[in-house]
Amino acid sequence: MAEKKVPLSSSQKSADQENKKFRFPKFKINRKTLKITALVILILIVAAGLSVAGVLISYAASAPELDPAALEAVEASYIFDREEREIAQLHAAENRVIVPIEEIPKQLQEAFIAIEDERFHKHKGVDLLGLGRAVLVNIREGSFAQGASTITQQLIRNAMLDPGKRIERKVQEIWLALQLERRYSKEEILEMYLNRICFGHGVYGVEAAARFYFDKSIGELSLAESALLAGVVRIPEYDNPFYDKEGSINRMKLVLGNMKRLGYISPEEYEEAVSEELIFAEPKSVTYPYPYFIDYVVHHELIDILTEMPEFGSIEDAYEAIYNGGLKVFTTMNTDYQSHLEDVLNRPGLYPQTIYINMTKLREAVNANNGRLPSDYPNAYIDEENGIPQPQSALVLADPKSGEVLALGGGREYSKNRNELLRYLSPRQPGSSIKPVIAYCSAFERGLLGAGSVLDDSPLIGPQGWRPENYAGNFLGMVTVRRALSWSYNIPAIRAYTEHTGLQEGAEKAYRMGLNTYNPQESVPLPSWAIGSREVTALDMAQAYSVFANNGIRMNLHTVRRIEDRNGNVIYEHEAEPEQVLSREAVFITNSILQDVVTSTTARGLSGLGRPLAAKTGTTDDARDIYLATYAPNLVATFWMGYDIKDMGKITSGWNWSSGLMREVFTEVFKTLPRENFPASPEGVVRVEVCTKSGLRPTELCREAGTVGADYFLRNHVPRLTCDLHVEVEICEASGLLAGEHCPPDQVVKEIRFNRPEFIVTDGGWPRGAGRKPLDAEEMPPEETCDIHFEFPAVFLYFTASTTAGRHVLLTWEYSGEAPKEFHLYRQTKNNNGDEAELIKKLGKNANSHHDRNVPPGTYIYTLYAVDKHGNRSQPAVVEVTLHEHQPQLPGKPEIREWNVETDDSGYKVTIKWDYEGSPVDWFRVYRDGRLIHTVNTSEDDRREYTDTNLEPDTYRYQIEAENDDGISKSDEVKITIKDEEPSGKSGDGHFFGGSLLDRLRGFLSASFWRLTI
Ligand SMILES: [Zn+2]
Ligand SMILES: [Zn+2]
Repeated sequence: MAEKKVPLSSSQKSADQENKKFRFPKFKINRKTLKITALVILILIVAAGLSVAGVLISYAASAPELDPAALEAVEASYIFDREEREIAQLHAAENRVIVPIEEIPKQLQEAFIAIEDERFHKHKGVDLLGLGRAVLVNIREGSFAQGASTITQQLIRNAMLDPGKRIERKVQEIWLALQLERRYSKEEILEMYLNRICFGHGVYGVEAAARFYFDKSIGELSLAESALLAGVVRIPEYDNPFYDKEGSINRMKLVLGNMKRLGYISPEEYEEAVSEELIFAEPKSVTYPYPYFIDYVVHHELIDILTEMPEFGSIEDAYEAIYNGGLKVFTTMNTDYQSHLEDVLNRPGLYPQTIYINMTKLREAVNANNGRLPSDYPNAYIDEENGIPQPQSALVLADPKSGEVLALGGGREYSKNRNELLRYLSPRQPGSSIKPVIAYCSAFERGLLGAGSVLDDSPLIGPQGWRPENYAGNFLGMVTVRRALSWSYNIPAIRAYTEHTGLQEGAEKAYRMGLNTYNPQESVPLPSWAIGSREVTALDMAQAYSVFANNGIRMNLHTVRRIEDRNGNVIYEHEAEPEQVLSREAVFITNSILQDVVTSTTARGLSGLGRPLAAKTGTTDDARDIYLATYAPNLVATFWMGYDIKDMGKITSGWNWSSGLMREVFTEVFKTLPRENFPASPEGVVRVEVCTKSGLRPTELCREAGTVGADYFLRNHVPRLTCDLHVEVEICEASGLLAGEHCPPDQVVKEIRFNRPEFIVTDGGWPRGAGRKPLDAEEMPPEETCDIHFEFPAVFLYFTASTTAGRHVLLTWEYSGEAPKEFHLYRQTKNNNGDEAELIKKLGKNANSHHDRNVPPGTYIYTLYAVDKHGNRSQPAVVEVTLHEHQPQLPGKPEIREWNVETDDSGYKVTIKWDYEGSPVDWFRVYRDGRLIHTVNTSEDDRREYTDTNLEPDTYRYQIEAENDDGISKSDEVKITIKDEEPSGKSGDGHFFGGSLLDRLRGFLSASFWRLTI
């Protein structure tokens, strides 16, 4: 597990190294050699000392007066909030119980002497042998790490000396120790020492320690328990059994070994003690409020600060100063925010569920089960009484302008065990919340991407066959950076990181912004870092996002403003070290997009709070870790939610929970935090109109496709090329393919298609399966030409056009080949303005002419196709015809030229024929006795004859009427008489001569030869 307990943390590397010096001495010194060496060194010191004696004497002379009252008291340190109100004292009165030396068991006294100062009863306050050894080690290691002090010296230092220059302090310590020994007995000195020594957790003195660690009075302690307590005091925060049980028992064995060697205990007592099963007390609750904040101040930042200072230098000295030094620590904590934050984090309703788990037991079971959850989880580990609530959370609030941390939430319900996890220091996977930091912002900075640039959300295969997917499992195709980042698509982020930003550069930027785990010098960045596979702490996330909030300037996050010593001297003051780690232009573009996340996408739960806010959410693939980073210009906040052991559970719809909880925090904080706007667009950023599918300058086609938008780019890196991905193509609707030359025009449509870049289709290796491709692949133009339309095998023998009546066009043709389904006739104005040929008529398969009537004057091209049942067309026949301005002309007067009377079984019939001259006729009408009996459409029927059937013998009057658009003219009436006695067969015919008598005569004469006209 990656979690670390208090006080170890990512910032504790130096502490660990320091620690090793105590736990694993690098060499052992032969006593005899040591004595000789010490003597030589002492001689050297004396020789050198002659020249520096004056200095040393001046140090000793400046030592404070020996003060018995100070020896009795313990001066713990005080913590203040940002208003300089005292909020905590690092020990409480009840944690110190004074007991006289007579009541302190001998073996307990001997245990301390054995480990801390084995010649205590022999020296006069200073142990020259021990000092010599320390000097030797220090010279060898080139440091002042070793500070072998007698019990007397430790007492003096803890009680009386301010942190100061180490050599000066050492001289004073020795000087005062010698005085103390003269004034007090060994018993008195030991009594003072054992009653004020610190055991960690703000516990002072052996009696309080016995109660704290064993729930016993000192009189009841076993030999082993006494030895354990003596082992704690070296570095109480580390050597105590609640922090490091195994380590503290090893220390106990060391103490017992010394006691045996010094003859305090027999080998049998030793054996019995080392094999004793120790039973510890339940850890007590902490004695100060706001532990999630103060724990960080005390165990992390103060230790870091103090160990950096030459006066302290070691963790041991740092804790000594904290617990005995009377320091005043002025922090950045906003008490109102802190208490509100703790209140919010403790509300069960803001979590998907709450279960109380005995985490110690569960961790042991997980360790025993090769790191996997045991099968009896959760039931066997539920502990309603003392369990740790799950899921857990962490929250950091800071002021990005100053770097001051305002409030810290390390979890829910700080437990009785003061070694509660500070979860804002637990590295967990950030998911998508990392994207702006590692994948995008440095690409913005270098102009490699703008908000309107386009990234391809299509399947990709990474190293080792990695096949990432989006949260929703689809591939959106070409998307703008704004859309990709605000909606948190994974593939575009990976492409932005690997193809634009660069693995090394992105990690370097993230590291410089504050993500300590992203140092590319320490581990090789992977493409998956773009979507949060690399763990990060919530505190580091707050540091990184503070750079976005503070216009690209990193102000180091800190909780300590100032430290004063017991006399009010300022020994430390935070110094701001502003560093521009990201350009203002890149920050502006990032902020513009991340504000969309609040107004429109995954952090909508934070919208409507009445001020500009930007945010980025993150959820790991398996929903184990939920991150939210959000900021205003004067506030940065990061939040994590998850289980203390990842596999313990999932949190679905994580963004709902993170935004919901953060909203509760903000509602209170914004009551006092002034509203601020994000900085306006800097000079170097311009808004440019682009095609949102190509990221290039738009064309008319992009506009028609509705994919034009304006977004931000660096002024010197605006797109210059024009979109060539939107293309216009002719599609045959019947086949859905590119139209070919034989596709019927009425089935051909012009479409705007998106010619997206090449892509791969998913295979079975993708978590959500094979056969998926980017959505916009659907918009691509077909690659193939229509395969269902081809040329119909047929030819026109001729195709002619003539005008009739000056305003109609008569088209005639003859055709040879397979029988078509129909003919399609098109007309197009010649020299037109690009008008399409218009389909004017579909004609039946037997047609061989068409009268295109009332055509406006002009020159026309007629095109004729023979078409089969599939719509396939023949080669066209084309003819051109011109119509001039039309002059009105009545049709000529028709003349009835011939008639003929016949009979058959059905009765008599009269066939009349006529002719006419002059301008064209559209319609002929046949009247009998004044009644219309037949109409001829001359465009469909150019015969000029009509047979009237089923007639009875009688006399009839026939008349022909001719009509065109200009009017009507009528023939004269012709009388035809059918006689009753006419024999069957031809009964008569006639020619129009105007006189009925003559007609009849002629009919009579040539009844059989009616065609022979006069
Ligand atoms: Zn376009
Ligand atoms: Zn087609």
